[in-house]
Amino acid sequence: MANIVGGIGASHSPTISFAKDTHKENDPGWAPIFAGFAEIKKWVEAKKVDVLFLIYNDHVTSFFFDHYSAFAMGVDDMYVSADEGGGPRPTAPVKGHAALSRHIANALVADEFDMSFFQKKPVDHGFLSPISMLSDDNAGWKGSVVPLQVGVLQLPIPNARRCYKLGKSLRKAIQSFPDDNLNVAIAATGGLSHQVHGERCGFLNEDWDNEFLELLEKDPDKLVNMRLAEYAEKGGMEGAEVIMWLIMRGALSDEVRKVHSQTYAPSMTNIATLIFEDLGDPPSQKEIDDYRAHIGYELAGAEKLEGTHPFTLETSLRAYRVNDFLHRLVIPEHRERFVNDPEALFDEFGLSEQEKDLIREKKWIEMIHYGVSFFLLEKMGAVTGVSNPSIYAAMRGQSLEEFQKSRNVPIQYTVAGGDNAKRFDT
Ligand code: FE
Repeated sequence: MANIVGGIGASHSPTISFAKDTHKENDPGWAPIFAGFAEIKKWVEAKKVDVLFLIYNDHVTSFFFDHYSAFAMGVDDMYVSADEGGGPRPTAPVKGHAALSRHIANALVADEFDMSFFQKKPVDHGFLSPISMLSDDNAGWKGSVVPLQVGVLQLPIPNARRCYKLGKSLRKAIQSFPDDNLNVAIAATGGLSHQVHGERCGFLNEDWDNEFLELLEKDPDKLVNMRLAEYAEKGGMEGAEVIMWLIMRGALSDEVRKVHSQTYAPSMTNIATLIFEDLGDPPSQKEIDDYRAHIGYELAGAEKLEGTHPFTLETSLRAYRVNDFLHRLVIPEHRERFVNDPEALFDEFGLSEQEKDLIREKKWIEMIHYGVSFFLLEKMGAVTGVSNPSIYAAMRGQSLEEFQKSRNVPIQYTVAGGDNAKRFDT
C-alpha cells in the first residue's frame, strides 16, 4: 500500500508565480510568500514525498465553458505549463504518476463519484504557483503528481460536503495502491479569502481565514456543513474555492498534527501555507483486499470475453497520438488534407511507421488491437468511403457479403453527413 504522509494547504494566487519568476525573494514586501513555501519545500524533502495529489482549479485556461466538469482528474504522464495570455511560464514540465491516477480513477468511480479525466491539457497558475515553489530554479520538481481539477468557476459547483466525501474515498484509493514504497501527500490549493470580480472586488477577511484554518484542523465537520453562500459571504465569491481544502482534509486521519501554518495578505488575497501530518493507522490487509475487490467489481471477468477490447485509461494514454489524429477528421481542413496529402499530415502529427501503416492500409482490427477507439474508425470510414458494415465485417475477418448474411436486414450506413452520406446509399 502507498503511504499518506500528510496534507498541504497552499494558496495558488498568480502573485506567487509572479514573485518566483521575477525573483522577489529578498524584497520585504514579497519575502513572506517565499518563507511560507520554503517550509513546505523543506517538509516535502524531509518526508521523501514521491507523489503530490494536487487539488487545484483551472482559471478558464484549459477548461472552458464549452464542456465544464466538476471533478476532472489528470491521467497523463506529463503536465506542461499553460499560456494564460502572455506566453507560458518557464516552469519545467512535471511528471504525472499515470498508474496511480488510474488506480484512483477506478476507485473514485467505484465509490460513485462521476469523475471526468483529462490528458494533454496544459496547467495554469492554480497548479503552477505552488509546484514552482518546490524547486529553487526552473528545472522543476523532481517528484510526480496526480492532479485533480475542480470546476469551481461556473455554478452549480460541488459543495463542501461532496469535496470532503471525495477525500474520504481518496484516502482508501491511495492506501490500496500496490506500492509499499510510495509516499503520497495531498496538496490542496486555492484561497484563502478573496474576491476578484465586481464591485465587491478586493474583499478580504483575515479573521475568517484564521477561523477556517483552525476549523480545518480541529473541527472539519463545521466546514463540511457550511453552504457555498456562507463561504462567499465570509471569504469572498472566489474565496469559496477553499472547499477544495476539504478534499485534502477528508483524505487525512481524523486527528492530524499541524506542523506549519502561515498567512500573509499583501494585496488581494490572504496567501496561506499549511502542513498537516497524518496520524492514522494504516488499513489492515483485509481492508485493502476488500477495497481492491470493490474497485474491480464492475469489470471483473470482462477480460475473458473473446474479441473484446475495453477502452481503458491505459489504452487512452498509450494510443492518444493516433486517436487524436483520427479524431481531427471532424475538422473539414484536416479531413481535406488527409484525403489529398496524407503522408505530409502523418509526419506533421508525428505518427510512427506502424501507425501510418495501420491507417494507410485500413487495418481495422489491427487498429482496435493497437488501441484505436471504434468510434474513430467509423469517422475514418466516412472519410475514406468505407461503410460501417464493411468495417464490422473486416474486424470479424469476413467479407461484407458474409457479414450481411448474419444480419436480419443487410443494410449499409455511415456517420458521414449530407452529400457524403449519399455515396454509401447503395
Ligand atoms: Fe484560484
